[in-house]
Order: sequence, then structure tokens, then C-alpha cells
Amino acid sequence: MKTVLVTGGSRGIGRAVCEAFSKEGYFVIINYNKSVKEAQTLCDSLKNAVTFRADVSDKEQVAAMVAAFPDIDVLVNNAGVSLFGVFDSVSRESIRELYDVNLFGTLNMTRAVLPSMIRRKSGAIINISSVFGECGASCEVDYSASKAALIGFTKALAKEVGPSYVRVNCVCPGVIDTDMNARLTIEEVESLVESIPLERLGKPVDVANAVLFLASEKADYISGAVLAVDGGLV
Ligand code: NAP
Repeated sequence: MKTVLVTGGSRGIGRAVCEAFSKEGYFVIINYNKSVKEAQTLCDSLKNAVTFRADVSDKEQVAAMVAAFPDIDVLVNNAGVSLFGVFDSVSRESIRELYDVNLFGTLNMTRAVLPSMIRRKSGAIINISSVFGECGASCEVDYSASKAALIGFTKALAKEVGPSYVRVNCVCPGVIDTDMNARLTIEEVESLVESIPLERLGKPVDVANAVLFLASEKADYISGAVLAVDGGLV
């Protein structure tokens, strides 16, 4: 049985990714940080799954988690936080937290999991970036920059570890209906939907299907790719 570790698997997109991999017969490690109840409820509803609490921005917690599951086949770097506000109005503390989770969390997890994948000459890493990492968003400058960094990271690492048969890809969701967008008003949602060619917000499962594909054998010759799941937005 193959093993997948999904960071931020407790809610939203991560939760849908855990459900999709479980249906496909994977053993699922649901990583979470604060949402213990949500993670446990999800775990109880899946066949072969466990939860593991670890803050991905903390190298020691990441090391302890990966030590408990040494042979991970698929790593989904999904954990992320958003930050809204005019560029020079956001606090240094929130900026630091944002990069610590969105960028350094992904680097910490990848560094911890890669040696075993390289040793076994097999593995898939899927990073959840954002369409804002491609096109930028006003009032989400640091968020966009952190997500753009993940695109560069994906492309470069794919080149470096390709000879070890480890594939690294990236998914860029558009506007997905999760807690992350709960602050949007109905009017803002309506206006966003008008700009989306497929005329609806994305669902977490839309992203999960793309992640599952990139992890599968059907994507065996795909590495360094950036796949938008955005209803045609960008
Ligand atoms: P969400 O509903 O807010 O869920 C965020 C997840 O990240 C939660 O499971 C949370 O776990 C986890 N998380 C946050 N900080 C963490 C940390 N330090 N360590 C471990 N886990 C942590 O967000 P979402 O919409 O599902 O977003 C998931 C990913 O997709 C993010 O990377 C986000 O940037 C990206 N994305 C989302 C959208 C969108 O429109 N929703 C669009 C583009 C990209 P706990 O609650 O357990 O702390």
C-alpha cells in the first residue's frame, strides 16, 4: 500500500486531497496544526489513515513526523495561510508567519522526505501554490510572492531530483470555496464568479483530482509542471 502525507489535511483543500487518496487505496497521513477535532473526524471517516500534529514551519516537529513514517511515497505540500492588506500596512510578524508556513513549511517538509525518496529512486511531490503566484493579487503581495516562490522551487527541484526518479509538480488553484475565502462578502463572490470563464468557484475536490492525477502513474512523465485549477481564470 502506498503512503501519502498531506500537510494541512484537516480542512479545505487538504481534507479533499486526503479523501481522494484514501478512495484510491493509499495509507493517508493527515497532518494538522490547530484543528485537532476536524483532523480526527476526517481520520475516523477514512479507511487507512492516521493523524499527526506538526507545525510545518517548525523543523523539529517536521523531523519527528517524518521519522514516524520513514517511507512516504507521495508528499502533498498543502498547508498554507493567507494575509490580506495593503503591502506596507501588514505587520512584520504576520509576514514572517506567512513565509514560515507557505514557503519554509514546504522546504522543511521536502528536505525531510526527499532522502528516502532518493534512496528508493521513487516518489512524487506536489506543491500547492496559487494562481496568484502566477499573476499576482493586489492586497495579497506577500501571499503572491510566497506562492510564486513555490513555482520556482518546483521547477528547480524537478530538475535536480529527476535523475533520482522523483517527480516534483505544482498545482495552482484559483478561487476555491474553503475557510480561506470565508471573509469574502456575497457581492465579492458574485463579482469573482463573473470573472471566471467556467462561472463558478472551485471546489476542494477539483484541486484534489488534479493532485491525485499528478501523483499517479498516468503522470509518470510529468515533472516540473505547473497546473492551474482555476476554471480558466488566468
Ligand atoms: P484552509 O481551509 O484555511 O486550510 C488551511 C490548512 O492549512 C488547514 O488544514 C490548516 O491546519 C493548515 N495549516 C495552516 N498552518 C499550518 C501549519 N503551520 N502547520 C500545519 N498545517 C497548517 O485553506 P485552503 O483553502 O484549504 O488552502 C489550502 C492550500 O491551498 C493553501 O496552501 C492555500 O494557500 C492554497 N490555495 C487556496 C486557495 C483558495 O481559494 N482556497 C487558492 C489558491 C491556493 P490547522 O487548521 O490544523 O492548523
